[in-house]
Order: sequence, then structure tokens, then C-alpha cells
Amino acid sequence: MPWADLLQPDLTLTGNILSLGPEVVEQHRLRGLILDVDETLVPWQSTQVPREVIAWGKMMRQLVPLVLVSNNLNRHRIAQIAAEMGPVAFFHGAGKPSRQKVRAAVSALSLDPDRIHKQVGIVGDRLLTDVLVGNRLDMFTILVEPITIAGASQPTYSWRRVEFWLFRTLQGR
Ligand SMILES: [Mg+2]
Repeated sequence: MPWADLLQPDLTLTGNILSLGPEVVEQHRLRGLILDVDETLVPWQSTQVPREVIAWGKMMRQLVPLVLVSNNLNRHRIAQIAAEMGPVAFFHGAGKPSRQKVRAAVSALSLDPDRIHKQVGIVGDRLLTDVLVGNRLDMFTILVEPITIAGASQPTYSWRRVEFWLFRTLQGR
């Protein structure tokens, strides 16, 4: 698969995770959602899961199981967030775009990681980690905007900009 295709999300939302509604799960017949943590569920430099995100998780869990897969190495932190989100299953130190822990997360959904065929959604804010690993595993990849704290100073997301530049360049535009 060409690089540009590996970095192409199946769905790009123009909002953060809260803009991902149940209709996406229903329309694409998703059987589970793998969620990125940092800047997808939890704002930059924040340890708190916003109340709205907890409510979102509660609503989504009525439709599909959720599993957190984070590149963050701090097991305690990711475990705490997973507890607040459900509790839901979690994997930390995943090294996305490495496939190993994402495959384990799919197995945790009682699904075969070799036969995903777009039946599992992966949600994240980064092309080179979340979308890339999702496409490598034939998942339904969903790119969201990073979640932020209202009124707080925002990071520049320079890596995200580099990723989009790379993506456009690979597409030949
Ligand atoms: Mg992230």
C-alpha cells in the first residue's frame, strides 16, 4: 500500500472526540473502538478526563466496547484514565504505529486481529501513529481534532502540522 494511502483516514472529523457520534458506529457496523488517550481523550498537559468525555464514553459503551491504547509509558496514569472511562481495558507504552499492542487490544475485544476488515474503529489525533497503525491492520481509521481545555493556552501542534505537510506531499499536491 502506498504511503499516502496508509496515512489516509477513513473518516476525518472536524471536531474533537465529542463530535464522534453513535451514527458512525451504526453506519459502519463497528464492533469496537480503540481509543488513543493523550490529546484524544485528555487535553495536553492535563491529567483530568473532561466530564463531557466521560459522558461520551458511557454513551458509546452502550453500543460497542472501548479499549484504550496509548503510547504513554506511564502505566499508572493510563490505568487511572481507563478506570474513569468505564472501567475499560487499556494498553500503555504501545509504540504506535507498532502493531503489537493494537493487535492485543483487538484480541481483548474477542475479535481476530488478522480479520478486522474495517469492523473495528481506531480513533486518534495523529496520522503517523493512530491512523498509520490502524490502516496497517485494516481498521476503520478515524482522525479527530486534539481535545483542548476551553480558555487554556494551546500548544502549537507542530508535529501534527508536519504530519499534514507530509501527507499532502505524499499525495503529490
Ligand atoms: Mg494522541
